[in-house]
Amino acid sequence: MCCWTETFVVGQATNNGKKEIILKANAIGLDFEKLVTNKSLLELKKMNCDFGTNPISKNILNYYTNYRGLTAVRNFYGKDLKIKACLYCNAQFSALLKNKNSSVSKLGFQLDHYLAKDDYPLLALSLYNLIPVCGNCNQRKLNSKLEIFYPYEDDINKITFFDLNEEKLIKYLLGNNSIDFIEWKLKNDTYKEKFKNHQKIFKIEQLYNANFKDIIKELLNKQIIYNDSRVDELSNLSFLNIDENMMERIKLGNYTLDEDINKRPLSKLVKDISERLSIITKIAPSKA
Ligand SMILES: [Zn+2]
Repeated sequence: MCCWTETFVVGQATNNGKKEIILKANAIGLDFEKLVTNKSLLELKKMNCDFGTNPISKNILNYYTNYRGLTAVRNFYGKDLKIKACLYCNAQFSALLKNKNSSVSKLGFQLDHYLAKDDYPLLALSLYNLIPVCGNCNQRKLNSKLEIFYPYEDDINKITFFDLNEEKLIKYLLGNNSIDFIEWKLKNDTYKEKFKNHQKIFKIEQLYNANFKDIIKELLNKQIIYNDSRVDELSNLSFLNIDENMMERIKLGNYTLDEDINKRPLSKLVKDISERLSIITKIAPSKA
């Protein structure tokens, strides 16, 4: 456990992509670098993994309650990172709530400690260790020690995909509403264990089959409604100024680009199944 934590911290500090997160945090006045670079690492080594009893740990944990309420922290996830869907399930909102008559916003989502704060108090404030998630996922993960996808490093969108079981889908369309046909699959065997754990804790397939089968039905209808001539007709309404990406969003009622997956819940399901049904073709990345 100890070595894994150290690798985790060093990995984060040296990873250029994640460094960006620190820079963004600094830009809004949060000095997170101190928490996750050498200083913390040395502290971790010095403490010989006895995190829980070290007075520094206690101070950090005490501070966490105030910290998660800071406007800067809220804005960091909600506005700067533009994350509006739970990073574990992509099924529910993780949004900011704006108070009436005030510019102060409240957290409409929860922050999960990827590594539990009781076990790793030094990482309680690390942006790397805080994952904006829905209440359901936060509750489900609570005391689990199973290793799940780490959303800042494991690109769940690229590693996994939603699929349809055609035989079951036909039975569902013929009136058997209780049949489940949405499947969540893995593209890369390297992540086999994390995938299994993620599914076990968050019950992704059950979650989607219990709540979102109607969305697939809608997509099947859209496949018929938005034929080429209909799309051309809409695109030619020049006063609407619709570009290709906006057209896809209008058709599907959701974002469809890889980079936009966390901007709205269920984007991944809609994107994957729309590609599967050829309502959209795989779109090349473009500007947000
Ligand atoms: Zn969730």
